[in-house]
Amino acid sequence: MRKAVYMDHAATTPVNPRAVEAMLPFFSQRFGNPSSVYALAQEARQAVEEARQAMADILGCSEREVIFTSGGTESDNIAIKGAAYGSQKSGNHIITSAIEHHAVLETCQHLERAGFEVTYLPVDQHGLVRVGDVEKAITDRTVLITIMLANNEMGTVEPIAEIGQLVKEWARSKKKIAFHTDAVQAAGALDINVEGLGVDMLSLSAHKFYGPKGVGIFYLRRGTVFTPQQSGGSQERNRRAGTENVPGIVGAAEAIKLAAGGRESYSQHCQGLRDRLIRGVLGGIEGSFLTGHPIQRLSNNASFCFPGVEGESILLSLDFEGVAASSGSACTSASLEPSHVMLAMGISVEVAHSSLRFSLGTENTEEEVDYVISILPGIVNRLRAMSPLAAER
Ligand code: PLP
Repeated sequence: MRKAVYMDHAATTPVNPRAVEAMLPFFSQRFGNPSSVYALAQEARQAVEEARQAMADILGCSEREVIFTSGGTESDNIAIKGAAYGSQKSGNHIITSAIEHHAVLETCQHLERAGFEVTYLPVDQHGLVRVGDVEKAITDRTVLITIMLANNEMGTVEPIAEIGQLVKEWARSKKKIAFHTDAVQAAGALDINVEGLGVDMLSLSAHKFYGPKGVGIFYLRRGTVFTPQQSGGSQERNRRAGTENVPGIVGAAEAIKLAAGGRESYSQHCQGLRDRLIRGVLGGIEGSFLTGHPIQRLSNNASFCFPGVEGESILLSLDFEGVAASSGSACTSASLEPSHVMLAMGISVEVAHSSLRFSLGTENTEEEVDYVISILPGIVNRLRAMSPLAAER
């Protein structure tokens, strides 16, 4: 029988049924617009404010510092543009890393066209940003540092708390620099307490932690310079105009509460499966190697390169066998460009094309992992034999 094995949780997760249940009334009988004054609307307003408090509890901040957006992409955009345009008088330099999600990289490129200077820090062979490089890159004109908490393609967890410490020391002795982290892949797996991380801004996306798509969370520390990027309404305390996605926000809050409550067991479950998958794949496929950091990585991420084969071809063969994985980030998988993340880790263009990511979740089982381990060597070997390079070997 053809199996259906979903191992692409970094692309998106199914919505937790309890989050769906919490959302449902807000599509129908409790449909009010939170900005209106009558009782129906105030019910919606109250639900949004309760959701905001739930997010604040997990982030360890005040509910006034939580802004709801349309997703991780918008949270990244408004964090970076909002801080950069807001601080233009004190400087025009931004520091980021070469392995950020396109929502960050393309926003930085946009700002370069608008006259900002951006430093794209390199990473080591495991995808780690060096704290020393961040320090060396800071100048008198630096107004913003944006580095992701965990990478979406190869799962490396970056030293955000250490960079946060550095930024704090700079604020004490020299100047205040806004510090943003894209924590989209980290929520559910890692502690996202903003004091522990030492960040001024943080981005989340509900569909990565078993919440609905199209709902983002943006943490903005009180006192951080910020220019709103959207005009048209006074919602979210004038920081993000537009009628709130009430059902989505309620679902996101329910999902984050469930994720935070089950974080330890989720991580243990995923890590056990991840390590079983890594052992099985590396042991069964000659020449394959793990990408990203061997230890300092997301508990649910197992990503590999299989030199001599196209990741896309493996993906299609896996799909034929009922397995959903990814050959890079979901957002770039439609393009034939090699992954900028693989290239930044020093992997050649040819080998970067052979990358494949499995990202595990609560529903995955050992049996599913063993199924993947049993079919993958055959797929890779068959594709290698068909490759034009095979004749040269
Ligand atoms: N940042 C990272 C690290 C991501 O992995 C993603 C999505 O894959 C995003 C941002 C964008 O989030 P969204 O899909 O909610 O726009």
